[in-house]
Amino acid sequence: MPDLTPSPDTTLIHHPYVPPAGFAAPQPGVYKASTVFFPNVAAMRAREWKDKSAYTYGLHGTPTTYLLEERLATLEGGAQCLLVPSGLAALATVALSLLRAGDEVLLPDNAYGPNKDLAQVELAHYGIRHQIYNPLDRADLAAKITPATRLVWLEAPGSVTMEFPDLPALVGLCRARGVRTALDNTWGAGLAFAPFDLLGDGTLGVDISAHALTKYPSGGGDVLMGSIVTRDADVHLQLKLTHMRLGLGVGANDAEAVLRALPSLLLRYRAQDQAARGLAQWLAAQPQVVQLLHPALAGSPGHAQWQALCGARDLAAGLFSFVFDARYSQAQVDRFCDSLRLFKIGYSWGGPTSLVMPYSLAAMRSAPQAQLQPGHLVRLAIGLEAPQDLRADLAQALAQAF
Ligand SMILES: *Cc1c(COP(=O)(O)O)cnc(C)c1O
Repeated sequence: MPDLTPSPDTTLIHHPYVPPAGFAAPQPGVYKASTVFFPNVAAMRAREWKDKSAYTYGLHGTPTTYLLEERLATLEGGAQCLLVPSGLAALATVALSLLRAGDEVLLPDNAYGPNKDLAQVELAHYGIRHQIYNPLDRADLAAKITPATRLVWLEAPGSVTMEFPDLPALVGLCRARGVRTALDNTWGAGLAFAPFDLLGDGTLGVDISAHALTKYPSGGGDVLMGSIVTRDADVHLQLKLTHMRLGLGVGANDAEAVLRALPSLLLRYRAQDQAARGLAQWLAAQPQVVQLLHPALAGSPGHAQWQALCGARDLAAGLFSFVFDARYSQAQVDRFCDSLRLFKIGYSWGGPTSLVMPYSLAAMRSAPQAQLQPGHLVRLAIGLEAPQDLRADLAQALAQAF
C-alpha cells in the first residue's frame, strides 16, 4: 500500500474539519465560487440549475445570489428574478433576449438615456429597429405600435424630467395589442407601486420589471447591480438562457452588500422621499425657480397619474428636478452647482450623499417638451443628511450664484 498521508500543503486544501451546521445570525453567509463540487459523476451529469434546485457553476448561482433573487422577486411582487452586473445590463439583457432582427422596440422619449443609446447603436447593429413615443400621449404610443413591435419600454416617472405617465393605460394598451411591456422600475424600487398589479386587483401588470439595484436597494453608492423580475416562467427561462449565454454574473460581496441593505430599504426610501418633498416645496418658493418637477407635488407633469398609482402608499423616490429662469446664464447655474458643499456633483442616486446634476435637455429629447418651462434644468438626488442642512446649503448656493 502506498502511503496516502497527504503533505501539509495538500491538507490545507483538503482539510477534514467541518464546522457544525445550524449557524444562525441576522445576515446570511457569503458564498463565493467559480467551481462548484459535485458529489459524484452521476450528480454532475444530472445537474440542474435552471430551477434553482442545485448548484453547478458560480455563474449560474450560489446560495448568496439565489437568496437575493428570491427577496427581490418578493419585493416587486414577481415570481422570478435574475441578477445582472448593472442596471443597464438588466435593460440590455431584456432587449437582447426578447428581440430579433426585424423586430421593433418602442421607448419613451424620457427613457433612461443609455437605454436609448442601446437601441440607437447596439440594437441597430442586429437589425432591430426602435421608435420613440411620447409617454404622456397614449394615442402616440397606440399609433406607433406596428405588427413588428415586440417590446415597449416604460418608465414611471421618466428620467430627469420626471413626468409620470398613465402607466395602467399604457400597459393596458400594449396588452390589448399583444405587445410585451418592460418597466424600468428603478424609481419605484418595488415600493412606490406594485409593477405586476397596477390596479390593485390582480388584473394588470407589466411583463418585466428591470431595476438598477445600484440605487436604493444598494443604498451605499458603492455597488453596481441590476435585477430582472418576471411573473411568467417561460419569459424568465428565455431571459435566463440569454443571461447564461452572455456570461453575466455578479460578485458575492456585491450581492451581500445589497442583502445587507434590503432590511432598511423602505426606511431609507421614505426618509429620502420626505426630505425631498420638503426641499422641493422650499425651492418652488424661491424667486429664481420657475418650475418644480416632482411627481408627488401638485402642478408637476403627471401628478394626477402619480396620485392614482402611488397615492395610497404615498411614496416617491427622493429625486426631483427644477428649472431656473431662462433669464439666468448657464454660467450662473453652473456656479450654483459648484457652490453647493453638501450636494456633490455626480450621477446615480439612492445613496447617503445628496447629489446635483445640471442637464441640457436639447440633446436628450427628440421632441420639444411642452410640459416644461423654458430655462435651465437641474436635478437633485436627496441623500440621508439632515434636511435643514441641505436647505441651508441650497440657500447659500442660490445666494452665491444669482
Ligand atoms: C441608474 C439607472 C439605470 C442604470 O443603472 P446602472 O446600475 O448605473 O447601470 C437604469 N435606469 C434608471 C432609471 C437609472 O436611474
